[in-house]
Amino acid sequence: MAQETIFSKIIRREIPADILYQDELVTAFRDINPRAPTHILIVPNVLIPTVNDVEAQHELALGRLFTVARKLAAEAGIAEDGYRLIMNCNQHGGQEVYHIHMHLVGGKALGAMVA
Ligand code: 5GP
Repeated sequence: MAQETIFSKIIRREIPADILYQDELVTAFRDINPRAPTHILIVPNVLIPTVNDVEAQHELALGRLFTVARKLAAEAGIAEDGYRLIMNCNQHGGQEVYHIHMHLVGGKALGAMVA
């Protein structure tokens, strides 16, 4: 059984977070340390530690990350200018919280860099 992170407590609303969206599969909330004017984390409600742990049974929830990202980008008014979706995996990928999450980052020009 994987170790829960702070994100599970946010999903269960046991600790405060600025939650923008929640349904039976995913939860989206503002990053506590935003790196851009819009910086939202979209997470599956089920604990999947890293992308290396993704299985076929997770496809519905992981697909939902994209439809929610699209909705929240539109609501934030950044859809037309554009934004970046990021998922970090393990140490070399810069992952800090071991509950997979999609970063939705935008509101400024981010450039062409991948890393
Ligand atoms: P990672 O580096 O794992 O891809 O990103 C983890 C993100 O979670 C970081 O951008 C960090 O600022 C954010 N974060 C860590 N702890 C908390 C928290 O307790 N609340 C919120 N809202 N964001 C958090």
